[in-house]
Amino acid sequence: MVKNDLQVSESAIRALSLCIRKAYLLIFSPGLSSPNAYEYMQVTLSSVTRQNYFHSILNQSVVESFSTLAISKGVDILTSVNLSVDFLSVRNTTLIKVPNKLPLDVLRYEPIIFSSKNKIQQEDKIELSFIGYTLSKFLNYLPATGHVVLVDGRNITVKLSENIKKCLPSINLLQGWLTQKSNLPPVVLNKHCPYCEFQNICKV
Ligand code: SF4
Repeated sequence: MVKNDLQVSESAIRALSLCIRKAYLLIFSPGLSSPNAYEYMQVTLSSVTRQNYFHSILNQSVVESFSTLAISKGVDILTSVNLSVDFLSVRNTTLIKVPNKLPLDVLRYEPIIFSSKNKIQQEDKIELSFIGYTLSKFLNYLPATGHVVLVDGRNITVKLSENIKKCLPSINLLQGWLTQKSNLPPVVLNKHCPYCEFQNICKV
C-alpha cells in the first residue's frame, strides 16, 4: 500500500546508518520519539554552530529564505529550504551559492549543514548526499559538493557524486518501505542505543 502522507527525511537516512529500526520508527512513528539529554545537547550544539557561521558571514553574504525569487536573484545563501519530491523530503535546509569561476557560469547551489562535533562524521556525508540527491530532482542538476561546518567553525567540503552513489541503496530501501508492505525491524542492540530517542520503545 502506498502511504502518501509519509516521506523519507534527512534525519531518517542519517538514522539508518546507526540503526535500521530507528530509521523505521522516525518515518512511521515519530510521535513515539522521546529525545534525551544527549539528543538535546546535539541539537543545541548544531544550532550554536549555525548561529556562529551566520554571524561570521554577516557582512559578506546576502541571506534570504528559500523562494523562486531568491533563487532568480542569486542570493548567496538560501535558508528554510523545504522540498518534497518522490517520497523524499528536506526540511529547514540551507543552501549556499557556488562561486562563479567565469562570468557566464550557470548559477548553482549546494547544501551546507551544521555539525555538533569538531570532526566530520560518516552520517554528515550521508545527510549531505541525501540533500544533494533530493535537490537534484528539484533543481535539475546534481550539486558537485556539499559542506559541513564543524563546531570549531571549520568548513569541510565533501564531494557528492561518489557519496550519492553509495547512499542510493539506502534511499531506495526507505522509499521501498513507503511503497510496499514493510514491518518494524527487530531490536538489535548497538552502540547508538544508549543515546537513542526510542529507548523507551525498544526497552533497552
Ligand atoms: S534504542 Fe537501539 S535498537 Fe532501538 S531504535 Fe534506538 S538504536 Fe535502534
